[in-house]
Amino acid sequence: MFSISFDATILSSPIEFLKGVGPLRADMLKKELGIFTFKDILDHFPLRHIDKTKVNPISSVTPASDYVQVAGTVTNSVLMGENRGRRLVATIKDSSGEMELVWFQGINWIQKSLQVGQTYLVYGKAGFFNGMPQITHPEMEVFTPEKSGGKAFLEPVYPSTEKLKAKSLGGRQIGKLTFSLLSSLKESDLPENLPASFLQHYGFPSRFNAYQQIHFPSSDKQYRQAINRLKFEELFIAQLRLGLIRLERHRYSKGVIFSQVGELFNSFYHHHLPFELTGAQKRVLKEIRQDMGQGRQMNRLLQGDVGSGKTMVALLSMLLAADNGFQSCLMAPTEILANQHFQGISSLLSEMPLKVALLTGSTRAAGRRKILAALANGDIHLLIGTHALLEDKVQFNNLGLAIIDEQHRFGVEQRARLWKKAAIPPHILVMTATPIPRTLAMTAYGDLDYSIIDELPPGRQPITTVHRYEYARATVMDFIRSEIDKGRQAYIIFPLIEESEKLDLENLMRGYENVKAFFPEPKYWISMVHGKQAPEVKETNMQRFVSHDTQIMVSTTVIEVGVNVPNASVMVIESAEKFGLSQLHQLRGRVGRGAEKSFCILLTGTQITNEARERLKTMCATNDGFVIAEKDLELRGPGDIEGTRQSGMLNFKLADIVQDKHLLDAAKQVAQTIIEADPTLQSEENKRLKNFLQAQKGKLAWSKIS
Ligand code: ADP
Ligand code: MG
Repeated sequence: MFSISFDATILSSPIEFLKGVGPLRADMLKKELGIFTFKDILDHFPLRHIDKTKVNPISSVTPASDYVQVAGTVTNSVLMGENRGRRLVATIKDSSGEMELVWFQGINWIQKSLQVGQTYLVYGKAGFFNGMPQITHPEMEVFTPEKSGGKAFLEPVYPSTEKLKAKSLGGRQIGKLTFSLLSSLKESDLPENLPASFLQHYGFPSRFNAYQQIHFPSSDKQYRQAINRLKFEELFIAQLRLGLIRLERHRYSKGVIFSQVGELFNSFYHHHLPFELTGAQKRVLKEIRQDMGQGRQMNRLLQGDVGSGKTMVALLSMLLAADNGFQSCLMAPTEILANQHFQGISSLLSEMPLKVALLTGSTRAAGRRKILAALANGDIHLLIGTHALLEDKVQFNNLGLAIIDEQHRFGVEQRARLWKKAAIPPHILVMTATPIPRTLAMTAYGDLDYSIIDELPPGRQPITTVHRYEYARATVMDFIRSEIDKGRQAYIIFPLIEESEKLDLENLMRGYENVKAFFPEPKYWISMVHGKQAPEVKETNMQRFVSHDTQIMVSTTVIEVGVNVPNASVMVIESAEKFGLSQLHQLRGRVGRGAEKSFCILLTGTQITNEARERLKTMCATNDGFVIAEKDLELRGPGDIEGTRQSGMLNFKLADIVQDKHLLDAAKQVAQTIIEADPTLQSEENKRLKNFLQAQKGKLAWSKIS
């Protein structure tokens, strides 16, 4: 079908064939930098460029300087220190002053090549040591005056490793290899892959040109245009891929058809629904219904901030399944949460002819046997539970819909295990209250369909959040007392410091005693819940808080997800600086669930890092989970965001989905437009894209073999 193959081009040649490389250096490049082919070295982009014409006088280097370039003559070099402190220190001098150059690695080689009396052009990050400016591991070359003055000369600085430097493959040598490769290429070796109309519309340089300019720019402006184009290309190709994968899944994955809205759904909706659905709930429900009625498997991510009412959407979807003769299941990450869903849903369905069951790790053997039998013969319509649902012994009669609540605790693999529980894979709805920034969702979950509940049920008051220091503890306790005296309840949460469970427990116990001193029995009662308790103990304590037998819940983060006690109006988070943003937001979501005004108090010591301070500030400033998620992404970078770690879709070479959001937006939009208009990329205009995607596929396989 594809007549053009790019596999034969020069750029797919193994790196050992590049002039100046050879088998030994090729091995090093592969191992150290993952450079296997000519193309790979072109994709090894410079970190920055040095303007070789700008030389700073040494005396102008201050502690505030960042990267500097000086030209100085070496006056001496000495070996100092021992073992790990062993270093080579050279002094250089220009007409304005002196500075030191320091090496900890490659000492022997550098000592041999460094010539006292020679003048070098020296570049690196400036530091100060004992009042003397110095550069550690500088970039150096013999100074030739003709390079300074005149037109800007932007030399690329490439990332390299100490091992490579020792084998004469430092940044400068990589630059030389890249330069000679680029000089030998023709325009057709780096054929354009973007439609001509894009280039025109965005004013992008050609692909060939962009590669030249990103490595060896003739000006700042050309460099910026080149990097923009290549970033866009990267994002756009990824979006196009994801879009095509999704399209394919839509086309070929068979799914059970829920064709009708029947008696069960309707009678519940009209007679038992305790409240009017919000507009967002209705919209999402419609999206789900459409999805499940089409004969292809639904794979949908439902995002809704804490308290936005995802459970009702889940329940109504399960009723649709039942109306169409299918079983469904709802899986929660903790027993507490599974229990709570079971109780809530059972009571909502108490007048409906449906059988609901609960299966968790602590379901007793006899009960379990009964449930498994009833499940297999179809007597149970809705199964609610924990991971226990995933066990092989749990066999359904005809599972049609599987819902996963609070998705970030479940991996992709677990999702896949649910698929296998029916001949035709069940529809999957993944619900998460950890808002994922839109940019991330677009890249990490681009192959899933995606719904958002972006509206809270009416009557909610925003939670007031404040940051208080340890020394104000007594005031905080007084405040809790005043809320309790009004009939409300409070949570006090302690962090888990994973290194030592024992310490955590001690910490929690001390906290508990402390709270007890402020709130003595019998006027006040306190529940305590933590991960080391037996499930029954946990459950009893939880239950006492739910039924308002206790006014205070002291706990670790086990209550983080899902727990619903609308009467609770205060959330105190101890050592709040130890929590991540999304966790703080989750915890805060435990209050503000009823009609009463709620408060969240973040307690910390006075010694906290700037980043922690930034998190606390964000929490105090907004209740919007999506804003918080964006901030989280900004503070931590995409690699660390919950649930996206393994996605592999975030490893862009050039683009950064936070900083290049505008490019990502544009790329996503253009990709969508193209897929809608020309899903098989047949048009003359899109042929380049098709060829490129096809060639890329081949190449991926190739580089794995070598
Ligand atoms: P989450 O999305 O965090 O799982 P829940 O489903 O637990 O939220 O809902 C939070 C609370 O809001 C529950 O008490 C629920 O009964 C209530 N609720 C849900 N939808 C509505 C609505 N449309 N109107 C009023 N209250 C609602
Ligand atoms: Mg929930």
